[in-house]
Amino acid sequence: MIIAANLKTNLTRKQTSEYVDELEDFLNKNKISQEILVFPAPSSLNTHSGKVTIGTQNAYAAANGAFTGEIGQDHLDEFCVKTILIGHSERRHVLGETQEELVKKFNYYKEQGFKIVYCIGEPLEVREAGNETMMKYISAQYEGIDTDYKNLIIAYEPVWAIGTGLTPTLQEIETIHKELKKKSSAPLLYGGSVKITNANDVLALKSVDGILVGSAALNVKNFCSMCEYAQNIENKKIKENI
Ligand code: PEP
Repeated sequence: MIIAANLKTNLTRKQTSEYVDELEDFLNKNKISQEILVFPAPSSLNTHSGKVTIGTQNAYAAANGAFTGEIGQDHLDEFCVKTILIGHSERRHVLGETQEELVKKFNYYKEQGFKIVYCIGEPLEVREAGNETMMKYISAQYEGIDTDYKNLIIAYEPVWAIGTGLTPTLQEIETIHKELKKKSSAPLLYGGSVKITNANDVLALKSVDGILVGSAALNVKNFCSMCEYAQNIENKKIKENI
């Protein structure tokens, strides 16, 4: 399974380094072999080797250039970062990134062989407009995206569930994930108010290949526990198949 932490605009470089060290220590002591991704703020990126993969929350679709306020591929290469989050709802809705811009970014980092966690999800008014409208909206977020890209991970994150404490029911997650699995065979994560209290149930769903966690991941001990839940679920599956 894939367990990812989006640290957003939190944790300085020093705090991030302590966070990653504590996480790495936990993963080693507890023999956790799941795929663990951490997305620090751009100024907290650093070289890291170990079980944790460091990814960037954003980067411009260029190696470098006149793009004030952005970082480019050169800045990622400096720290051997080869994983990027694209299409997060905060970038789509707060920072106004369009599908066209996201596709440009996707294609650039795909060309460079990056692992891409591509986020999709609908706002509340779209969900309330019914299933057909919702699927149409989500389908538009796949436009221009190579869903067969071998280093692709998709994260379904309903916008109304991000940072709100609200979540779809487990049945709703299962239903939409089943629909989304028809669109791409890439691993499919769920994100949106995953907490220590619901992570185990979400991870246990058949159609969920992992979770993308924001606020609750800021507490490293909570995030470690979520990684352990995933490991326990995988261990159980292996035992049942023997
Ligand atoms: C996110 O930012 O991707 C996210 C899922 O946030 P939260 O867990 O806080 O809802």
